Amino acid sequence: MRQSSLFTKTRREAPKDELAKNAQLLIRAGYVHKEMAGVYAYLPLGLKVVERIKAIVREEMEAIGGNELLMTSLQSKELWEKTDRWDDKNVDVWFKSVLKNGSEVGFGWSHEEPITELMTEYLASYRDLPAYVYQFQTKLRNELRAKSGIMRGREFVMKDMYSYTTDEEAHLKFYNAAIQAYHNVFMHVGLGELTYLTFASGGAFTQFSHEFQTVSEAGEDTIYVHKKKRLAVNKEVLTPEVLEKLDVKREELVEEKAIEVGNIFSFGSIKSEQLGLKYKDEEGTEKPVILGSYGIGITRLMGTIVESFADEKGIVWPEAVAPFAYHLVSLAGNNGDVAAYAESLYEELTDAGKSVLYDDRDVRAGEKFADSDLMGLPWRIVVGKDTLSSGQLELVHRKTGETTHLTRSELLAR
Ligand code: ATP
Ligand code: MG
Repeated sequence: MRQSSLFTKTRREAPKDELAKNAQLLIRAGYVHKEMAGVYAYLPLGLKVVERIKAIVREEMEAIGGNELLMTSLQSKELWEKTDRWDDKNVDVWFKSVLKNGSEVGFGWSHEEPITELMTEYLASYRDLPAYVYQFQTKLRNELRAKSGIMRGREFVMKDMYSYTTDEEAHLKFYNAAIQAYHNVFMHVGLGELTYLTFASGGAFTQFSHEFQTVSEAGEDTIYVHKKKRLAVNKEVLTPEVLEKLDVKREELVEEKAIEVGNIFSFGSIKSEQLGLKYKDEEGTEKPVILGSYGIGITRLMGTIVESFADEKGIVWPEAVAPFAYHLVSLAGNNGDVAAYAESLYEELTDAGKSVLYDDRDVRAGEKFADSDLMGLPWRIVVGKDTLSSGQLELVHRKTGETTHLTRSELLAR
């Protein structure tokens, strides 16, 4: 893509009321637009990152048998009353509205209820089970505080998966497969080292719910990390009994701030009993279906990546999620030969299937470099006057700043 035709613009300053590093950088670099506190629009560059993260998550969800679908945002009051989750006293993040005919509706902040009700029309026998479904959806939550940029949106993209199984054994098997799939996702996006399986409250069968927490100063949660065992305990369940259960000692744990990037939860048969989701087993006996729920905050994950890797010059994208792999920067000025060289290199790289953003704009070199640093693509290729005389291109690794000089054919062979 040519930068001259990319719809975006870098800015020197983020909005004054924006306190979070992730949103400040993403706004300045032209990835997102702030509509209001906790509400962000995704511009073409930002959307590319969202889509790349979704693709990684989708691959893992498909690998464990997930079927992608898309639920609705509008939710009926009557449904959520059945599980006692309509009242604002029980769920404090609802956005609600009223239809023209007077009936109340809520905007989906989660989807266990509607998906379980939907399943009552599709699951009747053990032969219909298991069922694993997931979606990427914009959740709406009236969050009290929205000061963490895209990491705590009032509107945000979540991947939510739901498992329906016949019994505890089948449930736990899938639950453990989901844990592995989640690990794979966080490894793939470059957060493997920083992200811990964290024991938290709630959860039928499993005694705990499990969060995936990425250690970060920008986190809103406090966890206690056991580095060697690669696990953590959420502050909310840090008790002597829990430590004993997990076979860890308090002094082996280090307190850290962390971002909850994922959360998995075993509902057991509660929801199915409340909503009448039953199946007939091989003997024809009716039993409630077991539900598990598995979330990943897609846009929160994007913010977490920015928070984790950015440096003083700007964003640093891991290759797996970058909107483009290469930033081809042409320092042509009014030198037609340099521009022609960069142009042909752009064509050649693109033809070779490389993902390239080509800065063909007629602006000063300093501005191009500053923008390129801010935007954070993994590799920068610089074409200048020297390139024509020496035949050497400059390849700069955004993460390390390491610079390599190489010929055009060496570059293409990489
Ligand atoms: P938190 O404790 O941070 O409020 P939660 O426990 O309410 O989150 P879940 O309902 O489990 O979150 O949602 C699943 C995932 O969605 C979370 O693990 C998180 O990654 C993401 N998420 C939750 N709330 C938000 C939000 N307001 N903005 C962006 N992502 C969010
Ligand atoms: Mg949580």
